[in-house]
Amino acid sequence: MVSLVTGGCGFIGSHMVDKLLAENHEVRVIDNWTTGRPQNLNHHKNNGHLTVYHMDIRNKEEIEEIFNDVDYVFHFAALADIVPSIQQPWDYYSSNVLGTYNVVECARKSNIKKFVYAASSSCYGIPDEYPTKEIAPIRPQYPYALTKRLGEETVLHWGQVYGLPVITLRLFNVYGTRSRTSGTYGAVFGVFLAQKIAGKPFTVVGDGEQTRDFTYVTDIANAFYTAAVSNITQETFNVGSHGTYSINKLCKLLGGEIVHIPKRPGEPDCTYADTSKIEQMLGWKAKVSFEEGVQKVLDNIEYWHDAPVWTPDTIGIATKDWFKYLGK
Ligand code: UDP
Repeated sequence: MVSLVTGGCGFIGSHMVDKLLAENHEVRVIDNWTTGRPQNLNHHKNNGHLTVYHMDIRNKEEIEEIFNDVDYVFHFAALADIVPSIQQPWDYYSSNVLGTYNVVECARKSNIKKFVYAASSSCYGIPDEYPTKEIAPIRPQYPYALTKRLGEETVLHWGQVYGLPVITLRLFNVYGTRSRTSGTYGAVFGVFLAQKIAGKPFTVVGDGEQTRDFTYVTDIANAFYTAAVSNITQETFNVGSHGTYSINKLCKLLGGEIVHIPKRPGEPDCTYADTSKIEQMLGWKAKVSFEEGVQKVLDNIEYWHDAPVWTPDTIGIATKDWFKYLGK
């Protein structure tokens, strides 16, 4: 089997590559190395079953030939994070929407077995119900969420109109080893781990009682694999851990001092996936407990050594536009 992983040098993508190589697939990666890091695949350096193409999904002519004879496409390449998506919406639109168009078009022309898209649970905004089902209203709150949603719609539309065998997976708060360390203020794990290494307090938003459905990255890779090899198509599934955990609990597990920073507008007090659909239709369920996952991350904490160390002051500056545009 030949699999193509866009964004395969990134956090989730590199774990997907691990999974596919373990399943004896020939793996091709397309990554432009803006947020993905080639070092994330260093452990496969001498593996002849992996080829990494340093290319950009925004350039359709360039990536087209990589799709020849591909069986499965896993589409992770995208820009993440809220604040830069507010400041540079075109970057997000071009990568996450037009980039997805390019990838799905190339896949259509090469007669693939399955296309699996990494969709975001941020499409639910602040939901009315927890756990949240796939049929909940779609309410993107910022350009990142919107562009991931438009990418998802594009993929499903290609399934509907052209019969491309597609599945979209809505991911809930993915964490784990190799989670991003890049410059922008983003996902809580990278922020807290860098603070822990530097001996600085964890910057807890609000009272820290808000909860997130933290889902371990190898469980995510297993969900993508299960979706790819299943005979189900044209479906959307939540992928979550089957639980929801407070930031205070995370701080306790990581161990360290705390400092509080202001609650941010537009963010939910809880994320919690209803995973009954994926359990029933695909037979997938998360296996890694929160305690276990956090321990795995702590065992690899050196990875975050060069990550920026955020303080309440620098976070205040970095999130200015968040409060300006989402706080209305
Ligand atoms: N969070 C925090 N301190 C930080 C960054 C995030 O307490 O410096 C909290 C945030 O309030 C949220 C959770 O961690 O409840 C997850 O935030 P993240 O940005 O990782 O994901 P999202 O809010 O998009 O679910």
